[in-house]
Amino acid sequence: MAERVAGPEIERLIQLLARLPGLGPRSARRAALHLIRKREELLSPLADAMRVAHERILVCSACGNIDTSDLCSVCADPRRDPAIIVVVETVADLWALERVGALRARYHVLGGALSPLDGVGPSDLGLDSLPGRVEADGVREVIIAVNATVDGQTTAHYITDILSHLDVKVTRLAHGVPMGGELDYLDEGTLSAAIRQRAAF
Ligand SMILES: [Zn+2]
Repeated sequence: MAERVAGPEIERLIQLLARLPGLGPRSARRAALHLIRKREELLSPLADAMRVAHERILVCSACGNIDTSDLCSVCADPRRDPAIIVVVETVADLWALERVGALRARYHVLGGALSPLDGVGPSDLGLDSLPGRVEADGVREVIIAVNATVDGQTTAHYITDILSHLDVKVTRLAHGVPMGGELDYLDEGTLSAAIRQRAAF
């Protein structure tokens, strides 16, 4: 086992940082050292920001987005077209689409994709509430913006099925999205082209 290089407080900081996506033990150690060196201008404000976020974060009851108010700022924005709903797998995908800024729509965050092998069914994903939301809000277009994975495509077909009896256009992102591609990792040009060139399902 490796020698400990620091006291338990610092080791704990490193261990927690190492749990972040994209950070292994080595980069967690570098990040911890950086934070400790910049104690006043980075470590302290970061700790405050994390505490405030932890206290104030809410899940939007309308769309599943994460924000500090319910409704979230996307749902509460009056300039958005309530007749367009974009279905995404994760909040990260919603944020990726918002970064591109090509849509003035509202969202429906599933929290994942259908995965029969892993026991993830429609009721786990808030899919049950989608047709009701489409009817109640007078939605004219549902844009399916799930990942181009097998589970994502299973989910897309299921959504098309449960909306087929409603008077709503169902579209999907264009094929700029590579197979297996996750929205959050696409560059902004590819993503906005995929939105503009969306096609009927
Ligand atoms: Zn919302």
